[in-house]
Amino acid sequence: MRVAIAGAGLAGLSCAKYLTDLGYTPIVLESRDVLGGLVAAWQDADGDWYETGLHVFFGAYPNMLQLLKELGIEDHLQWKKHTMIFNQPEKPGTYSRFDFPDLPAPLNGIVAILRNNDMLSWGEKIELAKGLAPAMLRGQKYVDSTDQYTFSEWLKQQGVSEDVQQDIFIAASKSLNFINPDEISAVVLLTALSRFLQQKDGSKMAFLDGSPTERLCQPLVDYITARGGEVRSNVPLKEILLNEDGTVKGFLMRGLNGAADYIETADVYVSAMPVDVMKVMVPAPWKENDFFQKLEGLEGVPVINLQLWFDRKLTDIDQLLFSRSSLLSVYADMSNTCRGYTNPERSMLELVLAPAKDWIAKSDEEILQVTLAELQKLFPSHFHGDNPAKLLKYHVVKTPRSVYKATPGRQQYRPSQQTPISNFFLSGSYTMQPYLGSMEGAVLSGKLTAQVIAEGSSVANSSNLQMQTPQPATNAATV
Ligand SMILES: Cc1cc2nc3c(=O)[nH]c(=O)nc-3n(C[C@H](O)[C@H](O)[C@H](O)COP(=O)(O)OP(=O)(O)OC[C@H]3O[C@@H](n4cnc5c(N)ncnc54)[C@H](O)[C@@H]3O)c2cc1C
Repeated sequence: MRVAIAGAGLAGLSCAKYLTDLGYTPIVLESRDVLGGLVAAWQDADGDWYETGLHVFFGAYPNMLQLLKELGIEDHLQWKKHTMIFNQPEKPGTYSRFDFPDLPAPLNGIVAILRNNDMLSWGEKIELAKGLAPAMLRGQKYVDSTDQYTFSEWLKQQGVSEDVQQDIFIAASKSLNFINPDEISAVVLLTALSRFLQQKDGSKMAFLDGSPTERLCQPLVDYITARGGEVRSNVPLKEILLNEDGTVKGFLMRGLNGAADYIETADVYVSAMPVDVMKVMVPAPWKENDFFQKLEGLEGVPVINLQLWFDRKLTDIDQLLFSRSSLLSVYADMSNTCRGYTNPERSMLELVLAPAKDWIAKSDEEILQVTLAELQKLFPSHFHGDNPAKLLKYHVVKTPRSVYKATPGRQQYRPSQQTPISNFFLSGSYTMQPYLGSMEGAVLSGKLTAQVIAEGSSVANSSNLQMQTPQPATNAATV
């Protein structure tokens, strides 16, 4: 049975991988010349990779970890020490750490917080513990009910002061959805916190050992094609063609470089395109349907990724860093964190600029200059004096609409993978699954899509896919 999948981000590729496991023949159709969507990367003229975004993997990503195991590429992840490191804006060039000891959860998280005296006073620790305890104790059902509030509103209700918010949660909020606590839904922060506190290695981080294109997407493509599937790039979906009964008749693909448009037919069709693309692609007869109308409630959030190559080493820290800058979110010296980018002599910083709404339309040069000014605060000793660090080259990648913007109330707009159309399904981290707009969410959504396709037909192998959903199960798990 043929399944046409539009979009080769992690959701589309994961969907295709699991469909091959279930005995289907997927054909993945990607509009761009590069696979991976939000994890896509390119090589410049020097052979250096530059990426759509700085990506970290967490211990609390069971479906991603299982996928890597199934592909035989678990060793492509480089696990770092279990710690979280924050810059201290009031003492430029210094860091504050939350070191997680080798103890069971949630004890390891509690000890990490109690031992940190730079960012939180004892009074603030008690305030925070009192504020967060109900969310941790009342479980996911309560967490899901907080989607009506911004995280700032929720913290205020719990009596947590502005200072605590400034110290920790601005950095956390920007790293999770590229927006500040006064915009982000409380459900995002509380879901992440509960995963991190309830699982011993939940907040432990890993970096891929090279570009996501080579080290993650290519093994997926190899797996799919070895089992009879296909992955094609440079084939944009132009229109979803319908039968008279409203089911899908075919995907009309746009012919590029003077080639004619053509129709791709299959037994089943999947959109693994971003929600912003899917919204404009909804065929007119489907627009009446509440299911498709709800997509209008979702929109991608802008974000900018920068990679800067310097003439010297700026740091030897081998971990993600939370900048606590109003301009930047997280960053890492990839010459330390990533085997494929190793350089013992020179730093290559990868930085996420967020919130990016005021910067997304600016020129690369303007974005570079404002980022360099921030770096003077993060690395004062390297940018002042007679011999300041020199920038050798840089790349800026702007994504005007990335993952769905998780403001309050968005959960109700996130669609299931199954749609009211019998031969059409959705995949993507924006679809309903409990890991929000993340790589884990994209991989799980692809697996869920494969599962619902199989449930509706007789082709599937007898064994079902093994889903990894958080305990206790959330409202989003449909398996
Ligand atoms: C800067 C940045 C940093 C991030 N950091 C992290 C992180 O540290 N950890 C984490 O877990 N997540 C992170 N994420 C989020 C993560 O990358 C995404 O959640 C995930 O990759 C989304 O995958 P997806 O397949 O759902 O969507 P996408 O990656 O958006 O894939 C959709 C695909 O559809 C294709 N497409 C679009 N239109 C068409 C068309 N007409 N025809 C055919 N194909 C089409 C696109 O080109 C794309 O390949 C980050 C994202 C960004 C942008």
